[in-house]
This record gives sequence, C-alpha cells and structure tokens, in this order.
Amino acid sequence: MTDPRLTLLAERLRVVEERIQVACARAGRRREEITLVAVTKTVSTEVAALLPTLNVTHLGESRPQELWRKAAALPPTIHWHLVGHLQRNKIERTLPLVHLIHSVDSLRLLTALEEEATKRQSPVDALLEVNASGEWSKRGFAPADVAGLAATIAGLKFVRIRGLMTMAALEQDPERTRPTFATVRTIRDKLQHGLGSSIRLDRLSMGMTNDFEVAIEEGATLVRIGTALFDL
Ligand SMILES: *Cc1c(COP(=O)(O)O)cnc(C)c1O
Repeated sequence: MTDPRLTLLAERLRVVEERIQVACARAGRRREEITLVAVTKTVSTEVAALLPTLNVTHLGESRPQELWRKAAALPPTIHWHLVGHLQRNKIERTLPLVHLIHSVDSLRLLTALEEEATKRQSPVDALLEVNASGEWSKRGFAPADVAGLAATIAGLKFVRIRGLMTMAALEQDPERTRPTFATVRTIRDKLQHGLGSSIRLDRLSMGMTNDFEVAIEEGATLVRIGTALFDL
C-alpha cells in the first residue's frame, strides 16, 4: 500500500517544481542550472526517506546532529547539505557525511575545516554564508569583508569554496528580498574577480519557501526548501 504521505509529498513537489520552472522561464534560465535542496529539519527520518522515491536526492539539515541521525538511516545515495551553523567540535563527524556545507560563517570555522580536511586528506566543498540583510540575528560574513577573503581562499588546499549562501529577511512581499539576492550575486562577482580563473564560484545558495522564485531570477543555483514541501 502506498504511504498516503507519499501522495501528498508528490503533489507538493509537483507544485514547487512548477514554480521553479516558471521562475526559470521568466529569467531565461535552464531548469538544470538549479538544484532543489529539500530541507528536512522539521520532518521525521521516515518522511525524509520518501524523497528518493520522488527523485529528490539532495537533502538539507540545519543541525549537524540531525544530519548525522538521518544520514545513518537513509541510503548512501543521498547528497547531504548542511545549511545551518557548524560548531567546530562537530566538524570531524560531519565531514565524511556531507556533500556541501552552505554555512561557513567565520574565518575560525574555515580554518578549522581546512585543518580537519587536511587530516583526512579529502576535499570538502563549501560556501561562505553572507549576512546581506544586515539582521543581527543572522550569521555570516559582513558583505564588506568578503572580497578580503580572496587570498585566504586561494591558499586553501582541501576546502573548496564554490560560492556564497545567504538568507534573506522574511518579507510579506517576496519582491522585497530582491536587493539582498542581487547584492550577494555582486559580492560573488567581486570575489571571483579577486580570485582569478583557478577557482570558480559558480554556486549561489539563495531562496527558501518564501522567496525562491525571486532568488532564481537573481541567479540562485541552489534553493533550500522546507515548508512548501513538508507542511503536510
Ligand atoms: C529551515 C531552513 C530552510 C528552509 O526554509 P523554509 O522557509 O521552510 O523553506 C532553508 N535554509 C535554512 C538555512 C534553513 O534553516
């Protein structure tokens, strides 16, 4: 018998997928440029396990412990994304499990990641989190500090910085998030200029349930979606 939650989830996914495609069409972008990361932080392992059946294999968690727990229970074909803060004492257990760390929010964390990745002799892909909305409650590098990180990034041997991540402020009108996303794209372009051609910052993780269409129009390549899929 089919899990009734699977039917509901399939319908939610269909709606999100359609919205992604409409946003792509509006922006003149191809659907393949965008990866849907299903953020499973509010649902059980059982519900998260339904996603591969629906061909969603990029899953995100905001807490490392929860990522460990779900990763242990789900098939190894899942690509796990850590989208929330990583405490340095959790790096060791997280690195072997994670496909992309979206939330490198300090130089201290970046240094500690490089140290652990070097110990493992194994590369890790990561994004720098930028606090572009200026809200005190949000983590991340200040926009003005990002360009100054070029030399540090170029000196890393095992941490591969692939781009930037941001969270916009929660707005009634998602259109108001557009300046935040546009700012992050501009910061990326500047950092790319400072890095030259050996490192390609081709990923932008921007957009959640409330604002992913605007984010796609502003260049997002990863959208992190929870509520629209799982508010079942
Ligand atoms: C929870 C979370 C999301 C998903 O947010 P929704 O609004 O539920 O889609 C995306 N990114 C981060 C960092 C999160 O913590």
